[in-house]
Amino acid sequence: MSQELYCYLNGKIVREGEAALSPFDRGFLWGDGVYEITPCFNRRLYRLKDHLDRLYRSFRYVRIDLGIGQEEVEKLTLDLLQMNLPLLAEESVYRVGHWVTRGMDTPSMVARAAGPPTLFIFWRPVAVEAAARSLAEGVKLAIVPTRRVPPQCLETRAKVTSKLNQILAELEADAVDSLSLMLDIHGNVSENSIANFFIVKKGVLWTPPAQNVLEGITRKVVFELSSRLRISVEEQHFSLYDLAQSDEFFLTSSVTCVTPVREVHGIRPSSPVPGPVTKRLMAAFVDETGFDFRKYLSD
Ligand code: PLP
Repeated sequence: MSQELYCYLNGKIVREGEAALSPFDRGFLWGDGVYEITPCFNRRLYRLKDHLDRLYRSFRYVRIDLGIGQEEVEKLTLDLLQMNLPLLAEESVYRVGHWVTRGMDTPSMVARAAGPPTLFIFWRPVAVEAAARSLAEGVKLAIVPTRRVPPQCLETRAKVTSKLNQILAELEADAVDSLSLMLDIHGNVSENSIANFFIVKKGVLWTPPAQNVLEGITRKVVFELSSRLRISVEEQHFSLYDLAQSDEFFLTSSVTCVTPVREVHGIRPSSPVPGPVTKRLMAAFVDETGFDFRKYLSD
């Protein structure tokens, strides 16, 4: 029996290898779409509702009318999970993608005339050993020349498929063997290409305001867990000067949840990595998701 997972594409559930889309889709031609990545830990979707809420907020901003409601997309996703269930290991972690584009382009290239929208839902495995290593050792970030596109040009809270801004940032960081940390156009710390960024100063978490970054679901869960753990959080702009005075740094994103950062462009946190506050949050996420990456650490 083939182990290929099932995916959903425009009304049909097919094996991944059978999914095909026209090159005239506006997602391919213009990056004209929005997306979500929801983690699936041990065969259970984590915070699907939060992710679909954000998907529908993105739709309203980019004016895509999917033609079906959020509950219907949730049902399609749960039906697909049922089909994939026998192919997923009991202990496993997957990224579940919801990709939506404006659909087929027309000769006039007018966005309004395109469509109907394309909806693609799929499961992708996560490289757990590599993730486990990053969580144990922390990652190295570099401040990159490319600045985060300001919300006046393209709203940062919308999760759009046009990622070239962040891909350039990541290529710049990769040239110095790092992941990216982008600044906004004013020089404040913004975020990584696929993760939000936090610093810890004297036990208090600082993260940039949502108006300037993607409003991450994991970022939101950090706020919830911090309130439970009695850790204060401040949403505020901060500079590299503030960062240099910090005790801990970490990234947040769906799937890996909290990733310690061991260095930002030569600046090291004053605490050991992971620091005490980061460790508490990492442990709280293991309780939340039921998945512990540490089990996958190879020597
Ligand atoms: N920031 C950006 C630019 C992202 O693309 C992502 C996720 O893809 C995040 C932050 C983290 O968001 P979440 O916690 O919802 O995965």
